[in-house]
Amino acid sequence: MGKYKRVLLKLSGESLMGRQQYGIDADRLDDYARDIKIAHEDMNTQVAIVIGGGNIFRGLSGATKGFDRVKGDQMGMLATVINSLALSSALTSIGVKNRVLTAIRMEPIGEYYNKWRAIELMEAGEVVILSGGTGNPFFTTDTGSSLRGIEVEADVMLKGTRVDGIYTADPEKDATATKFDRITYDEIYRRGLKVMDLTATTMCKENNLPIVVFDMDTPGNLLKVLKGDNIGTYVCNE
Ligand code: UDP
Repeated sequence: MGKYKRVLLKLSGESLMGRQQYGIDADRLDDYARDIKIAHEDMNTQVAIVIGGGNIFRGLSGATKGFDRVKGDQMGMLATVINSLALSSALTSIGVKNRVLTAIRMEPIGEYYNKWRAIELMEAGEVVILSGGTGNPFFTTDTGSSLRGIEVEADVMLKGTRVDGIYTADPEKDATATKFDRITYDEIYRRGLKVMDLTATTMCKENNLPIVVFDMDTPGNLLKVLKGDNIGTYVCNE
């Protein structure tokens, strides 16, 4: 049994690109699927997943090219559904029972999301992939993950990124940046750290949902987080 009974795992769309410039890298997808299988089966953890869509389309960047913002965001939400279907397929191919739920009604692509259905499926042993973000424009999938994590009563939100935690500055730009093992939401605001957008951070803070930011692109790390190994950065109220 792992440290957490139920987790909300956030995967970024951008990470799904792997070494590509666009779209979905099949090897990266398989790595994620294998890590999720271990988390789910060996650690006996209930897993809900939210995936971004940045590898395909982001509403905000569409708006700078003349797209209507709301339509652009709707395109972004559909991109998260595409990624969710890809992950679902990868999980199914290695024998992990899973279900895609959608924030916007679009059967038969996925079942229309509601909190109780998601919990029911997890308790029956399925991994649930919660696609379409919040279903509303002007939000991000980070906010979608906070919202869904709180709704499904997850013990923690695991934010898988390509960096291994939260740093005092961007470690890819500043060689003197140091990593936090643990930080409060207030400290994130005070230092102006760009961990997630403020809406997402505030939802976690106000509803007391801790976050672990960790490097998901190193296979095996998800398992380490679930075992309670000291990797990544733990974010909480105190
Ligand atoms: N999006 C949205 N509402 C939501 C979640 C996402 O409109 O609740 C749109 C938004 O345009 C966003 C895109 O979907 O840019 C992809 O999501 P995100 O940028 O969060 O993906 P990530 O950066 O995690 O790959």
